[in-house]
Amino acid sequence: MEFSCSCCKKVKPKEGFYKNKRQRSGYDTSRCKSCIKDRHAERSEGIKEYRSRYYRDNAEEKKAYARERRKRSRSDKFTVYLLEKEMYVGQTNNLSYRLKQHRASGKNVSKVVELGIYDTRREALDREAMYHRIGYKGKK
Ligand SMILES: [Zn+2]
Repeated sequence: MEFSCSCCKKVKPKEGFYKNKRQRSGYDTSRCKSCIKDRHAERSEGIKEYRSRYYRDNAEEKKAYARERRKRSRSDKFTVYLLEKEMYVGQTNNLSYRLKQHRASGKNVSKVVELGIYDTRREALDREAMYHRIGYKGKK
């Protein structure tokens, strides 16, 4: 027995089609097995494509969100701070972000002391340099 596939129009032996009791012929001739396989492949490609696009867009969104948070947490003052466990003195206008960076680089930030808060970065840098001169570590 042979059927013609309504999808690819090819005439194939009945083994090329899936059985379907609801069809008069006993076979689903709307799509042969290879047409069904092709359609699955197309769909899973589509799904893969959709997923990767979703992750990509999401990554952008997350980055933008982090940027925004960073901007909002930035103050217009400059803090000179000491990481007591590290004997490290630094200055920043965004202490919480700076501490996060220190934490990520493996520094011990369990004890933070604010040494001073300044209106300009110049003053903060001067103060920081003073601490570095007397032996505290810091960004060169
Ligand atoms: Zn077909």
